[in-house]
Amino acid sequence: MKKVTVVGCGAYMESGYGCPGEWRCLKAAALGEGKFEEPMQVTAFVKCECPGRALAPSVGMAAKLSEVKPDAIYLSTCMVNAKPGCPYASAEEMATILQNKTGVPVILGTHDYH
Ligand code: SF4
Repeated sequence: MKKVTVVGCGAYMESGYGCPGEWRCLKAAALGEGKFEEPMQVTAFVKCECPGRALAPSVGMAAKLSEVKPDAIYLSTCMVNAKPGCPYASAEEMATILQNKTGVPVILGTHDYH
């Protein structure tokens, strides 16, 4: 089974209103729904924190400390579809940075639950 890292928007997660960190990303990964083409194991869940500069090192540290290099990194739906969006970078920019720094493919979005 593929192992993946999920990244959530910390600013949104901390607002506490139906944060994907509760269950949405995890359910979609477990059942192979939404952007997950098959059931996958979430071996790291990393919270982005404004202004996002520490994200790539944090994802890299999670892989190092867990001793699991993920097959893919998923930017959560709360990051990718945020309205209003992240004031610091687009999801595409964050994905490019992460992919260049880690060498791991980055997928935009996780689930389509409400
Ligand atoms: S930098 Fe953007 S994506 Fe990251 S926590 Fe802040 S608002 Fe969310």
